[in-house]
This record gives sequence, C-alpha cells and structure tokens, in this order.
Amino acid sequence: MIQPTQSCPDAVTTLFNLPDHQVISASNDDAAGIRVVTVALDSPTACPGCVVLASRVHSLRTQRVRDILVAGHVRLMWAKRWLFCDEVLCARKTFLRIDPAGPRFARSTTRLKETLKDAVIDSGRAASEVAAAFKVSWWLVNTVVLAAAAALPSVDLLEPTRLGIDEHRYRSVRWLQDQLSKKWTRYEPWMSTIVDVDTGQVLGIVDGRDSRGVGAWLKAGPTTWLCCIETVGIDPSAAFREALRENLPDAAVSVDHFHMVLLANDMLTQVRQRVSREQNGRRGLKTDKAWAHRQLLLRGYDTLLRRRQETPR
Ligand SMILES: [Zn+2]
Repeated sequence: MIQPTQSCPDAVTTLFNLPDHQVISASNDDAAGIRVVTVALDSPTACPGCVVLASRVHSLRTQRVRDILVAGHVRLMWAKRWLFCDEVLCARKTFLRIDPAGPRFARSTTRLKETLKDAVIDSGRAASEVAAAFKVSWWLVNTVVLAAAAALPSVDLLEPTRLGIDEHRYRSVRWLQDQLSKKWTRYEPWMSTIVDVDTGQVLGIVDGRDSRGVGAWLKAGPTTWLCCIETVGIDPSAAFREALRENLPDAAVSVDHFHMVLLANDMLTQVRQRVSREQNGRRGLKTDKAWAHRQLLLRGYDTLLRRRQETPR
C-alpha cells in the first residue's frame, strides 16, 4: 500500500504559509492581546550521520521565534524535535532536525530576515520605519542589512561597464571657526557616491563633490577595470564631467532626464520672459496669453489632453 510521507496541511497550516511546517496549536493570549501559534517541521528528516530517515521523537523543545506579521501580530513558538537514529551502526544516537526556515540558535525566521532585507534594500524604506511596521527592533533590521552588505562581492573583483555618479549632502551645514584668525567658515559636508548601474552596488564614496575626489578615485582604479567602462551617468555637473574627461575619455556620458528637463524648462521660462519684455516693455500679465498659459508650455507632451496635442497653441 502506498502512503504519503507528509500529512495533508490543515486550514490553519495553509493560512500560516510556512513551507514544510505544520501548525500544531493556535490560541489567543487574551492578556497580551495576541495569537500564539506553535509550529513544527513536517517533513521527513535524514540523520546527518547515516542519512537514514528517522521519525522517533526523543524530546521536544519549544522556543520563541520572531516572524513576519500573519494577519496581524503573532507570537510564534517553534517546536524543535530531537529524534532518535535507529540505525544500529550509526554513531549518532540522537540529532536535531535541521530546519532551513529557522536555523539552530536563530531568534528570527529566515522569511522574516528576507522580508526586512527586501523592505530596506529593494524598496528603500528607512530601517526605523521597517522596524516599527514589523514590530521588531531597529537593531535587528540593521543587523540584517549589514549581513546583506557583507555578502556582496568585493569591489576589486567586479568589472562594471556602466557607472553612476551623484553627490549627496550627508548632514546639515556647519560653521567652523579658525582658532588663530577667529574667522568663521561655512562648511557644506558633501560626498560623491559611485555605483554600478547594472547592480546598484556602491563601488566607492569620496569626500566632496568636485572633480578632485572622483578623479582621484578613478585614478586609483586598475587600468583593466577602467577600460571596461562604457557609459557613466551623472547629473549636469561640470566637476564630474571634468573628472571623466581626464580619466575616462572614451566613456560615453549620459545625463539623467530629470535635470535635462529642468534645464530646458528654465531656459524656456527665460526666453518667454525676455520676449515679453522686448515686445511689451514690461513683465507678463494675466491678460497675456503667454503668461496665462506659462504652465502649459512646461508640461510634458504625453501629459497633454488629446486636443492640446493635436492643436498646440
Ligand atoms: Zn544515524
């Protein structure tokens, strides 16, 4: 007779949706106002010593583990089973089931860590906001993100073909006083970040936003590495352009469309204002069509109504 090796999942197990696990109890903790769910691994397990399937339970140890929110906050209790190995020749008499969803000594499920990582790295959400949403500590989110960063390949081993460079002000403006002259100097803490456009991985961070920092970083790179770079995306920055002209003369430079449209709109506004002054001897007024429809001139063509696209005025 053929018998299934796994039990059919019940409704609660299906709703909890933790692969290869069975919900063995679910109850309400009225005092804490949450639900308590206990799960156990529900798949045949081979002894790590002899690879013979074992099922006889030696002991059961329940451990609290953090998990994702399943229709609200759930306190997850993990029932970990120690099993006997009944193989006579095997040196191991008992063993703990290896559980990929929650490795030994883990205080959080694997799916919780993956969800936190995706929320911060893929969706760009703040660690504090993710921690509050999933009811975990900020330190857990930070640890997950750091572990993901540590798993990235070394920058020296990469061969990117497309770079992206952008500046970022990482803190507010500071005023620093010279001890001798007592003169105050305004200091804007800028940094420039170089990324691999294909993967989004940060390749380097340099101080400032002038050509020296980016240029020095490019000069320090291996020649074989720099020869592979085909395109560099920047905002319309003369400093970045100068650094690229010196160090990557053969690479094509692309500019993001946001800044290009911004520059084009600024120029269009300047021309409209100049023509208005030349023709009327004054600035535009509400009675002037060019002034009244000035926002229409700046709209994207694809966002215009069809009648505007067909008969632009
Ligand atoms: Zn064994």
